[in-house]
Amino acid sequence: MKLFLCILLGLFAGQSIAQRNCGTTHYWQEQLSSDQQLKARHEKLQHYPPSKKEQEKDVTDLSVITIPVVIHILYNTPAENISDEQIRSQIEVLNRDFGKQNKDFGQVPAAFAPFAADTRIQFELAKVDPEGRATNGIIRKKTTQASWKQDDMMKFSASGGDDAWDSRYYLNIWVCNLNRSLLGYSTFPGAVAAKDGVVIRTDIFGNINISSPVYNKGRTTTHEVGHWLNLKHLWGDSYCGDDGVDDTPPQRTYNSGCSSFPQIDPEGCNPSADGDMFMNFMDFSDDACILMFTYGQKQRMRNLFKEGGARASILQSPALGQPWNNTPSPYSQTSGASIHIFPNPAASGITFATGDNKPVIVKSFIIYNNTGKPVMRGNNSSGTQITGLIPGIYLISIEAEDTITTLKFVKK
Ligand SMILES: [Zn+2]
Repeated sequence: MKLFLCILLGLFAGQSIAQRNCGTTHYWQEQLSSDQQLKARHEKLQHYPPSKKEQEKDVTDLSVITIPVVIHILYNTPAENISDEQIRSQIEVLNRDFGKQNKDFGQVPAAFAPFAADTRIQFELAKVDPEGRATNGIIRKKTTQASWKQDDMMKFSASGGDDAWDSRYYLNIWVCNLNRSLLGYSTFPGAVAAKDGVVIRTDIFGNINISSPVYNKGRTTTHEVGHWLNLKHLWGDSYCGDDGVDDTPPQRTYNSGCSSFPQIDPEGCNPSADGDMFMNFMDFSDDACILMFTYGQKQRMRNLFKEGGARASILQSPALGQPWNNTPSPYSQTSGASIHIFPNPAASGITFATGDNKPVIVKSFIIYNNTGKPVMRGNNSSGTQITGLIPGIYLISIEAEDTITTLKFVKK
């Protein structure tokens, strides 16, 4: 059967049909063979299957789980240093997709719509870094590495990447120029802490400024975060395999492109006239055609947050609370232009300057308040009036030359 599957996949690969290339399965198999304890850790931490009683409780459990996210932008070219707006667009996509608020949900066929769930899982950029300093949850790092493979090098500063923030408390997402053949990959629960997280190719991160006509809605990240929350592909990565979820129909293999309902596979194992659930986020359809998680998938994800579960520590994360450390952050430093602002604290206005206090005109800037909301922005300026801001702590993201520097300032 294995040989048959390989031939089958080979046939698919030879066709020109667009195929979502998620590296998670291959990556996980490599990790399992190199880490003898991983399987045991993974199974112990899954907290699955739940008892019948837990399942019933979970359906009515409406508490929202908010996951703090830190984005590691690794850029080699200026274009790879994507804007804060593009990053925020990805967080918004995650929140809509996981919350069943996606505007294209109406495309889900009537036969499958009743299975679609609001997972009550949401995402927010971190406000506090691991040392207690204020942050906007975005790290930008210039790297000499032009492209990256599925080998975790992007997860370590020592190999030109950027070290994970404590994965007990943060979802780490590395955004970098992955090999063309790869859209992204993720760890499953149980991975070693330093590697725990999701990797996404820069040019398909978010849903603005994306040139790909197929992966332009931020759904690669939705899919990979699904893996991070323990979801498998619908076909269980084997011929008519099991994904550990009861309400996703059995499926022979993945679907590509955009299928029409009903997608009946004549050689498949699905007896239902409704066919495959090709519009599930954990299939391989194009971004425009993956639209939903099911209640069963919701349960499988939320089980991780129960006592003893692999992601239970996220609920204790200090990352969305108040900063308590006022020393300068090491995470916002970028090579290239070294921009700072003066005076700080400031009452009426701030000026952008280089290291020797020489005023400099920057390409753009955005000021965020302490809830992460943009409150002021501008282009081609050497400073700005801030008399309209209420006194408090603000973050300013300044784009100059090919770098974006994030600084904190106090409005008196
Ligand atoms: Zn996948």
